[in-house]
Amino acid sequence: MEDNPLNMKLLEILLRPKNYTLLEAVDGEEALDIATREQPDLIVMDIQLPKMSGLEVTKKLRQMPVFNSIPIIALTAYAMKGDKERFIAAGCNAYLPKPINTRELPEMISRMLQQSQKITPSVRDNDQKDSCRR
Ligand code: MN
Repeated sequence: MEDNPLNMKLLEILLRPKNYTLLEAVDGEEALDIATREQPDLIVMDIQLPKMSGLEVTKKLRQMPVFNSIPIIALTAYAMKGDKERFIAAGCNAYLPKPINTRELPEMISRMLQQSQKITPSVRDNDQKDSCRR
């Protein structure tokens, strides 16, 4: 989930070689809609989203049982002291500052997908979906 077109493009380029199915949303409401409908295996969530913040989207998703264990990676360009704690409290599993680290983010995504597949192998398949919202 990402509202910045350049960052969205960067995510597409970074994740293309992995053969994930990418679902994209450019604001918080769309992010909530798509995530609820498609139930992706992992969400990359920009915190600064129009209409509804990534933090609010995360809180709403975490209220649904089906989203209890789906990894959510928060991204933000305006990290301040205490933000990380706030993001984790809202339900994010991890947090990365922007600009996007082109090595660290894809590694984190693939690591978190592997971990969540180990925990719940029965509900996972090869069609990994990855949502990018900012
Ligand atoms: Mn943004």
